[in-house]
Amino acid sequence: MHIVILGAPGAGKGTQAQLISTRYNIPAISTGDLLRIAASNPNDDLSSRIANTIGQGILVSNDLIIQVIRKRLSMDDCKNGFILDGFPRSLEQAKLMNEIFSDGNQNIVMHIEVKKDILLQRLLGRFSCKSCGTIYNKFFLNTTKEGTCDVCEGTNFVYRNDDDEQIIRNRMNVYEAETKPMIEYYESEQNDRNYSFVTFNGGQSVNSLSSDIQEYLDNFIK
Ligand code: AMP
Repeated sequence: MHIVILGAPGAGKGTQAQLISTRYNIPAISTGDLLRIAASNPNDDLSSRIANTIGQGILVSNDLIIQVIRKRLSMDDCKNGFILDGFPRSLEQAKLMNEIFSDGNQNIVMHIEVKKDILLQRLLGRFSCKSCGTIYNKFFLNTTKEGTCDVCEGTNFVYRNDDDEQIIRNRMNVYEAETKPMIEYYESEQNDRNYSFVTFNGGQSVNSLSSDIQEYLDNFIK
């Protein structure tokens, strides 16, 4: 299965990608995570430039993202499939995705749709466990025990630097200008489809959305 999860920042792509990864035993690949790792070397010029781009809430260059994606997808664990979270994000990147979607595979494009006001709260309240990466939200989905991760009992949590109000606004603008037209392209019947397209209601709880996705995928692979 080659799965692409599309949606606005805060739609829940990362959370659902992790759940799909565990259930179907294929890697969840987040381009945002790959870039944050690439941006974490303060002594390297390219690394600093990536950090700066992410910090502004705008997209890194296509050349760079293509390099990052190609390298990751060539790894052994992607042989039986993968879930992509955060790529493609523009019409140009979608063209590259078409090359990656090889015929004969089960290619699925999932769109998680969420209303704008909910997205904002999700991003402003988002934090994650430093040890295992489980994502929480201080407004909707806090840890059961204050300050302790439900999954690994870790006690250190991190907020993303780009989950700041002004940067979120930039990310939303980029989404509207670059990503939304691409989602419309995927949805349209006009292009030469070598994938299945499905939209899910991302306004529901993590578990309900996960059940909807699971039902769809179980039917798909039957
Ligand atoms: P995310 O974790 O998916 O929200 O991505 C965080 C940031 O990484 C984005 O705001 C961009 O700066 C960068 N990024 C992630 N994926 C891509 C992509 N496919 N193309 C360009 N930039 C990206």
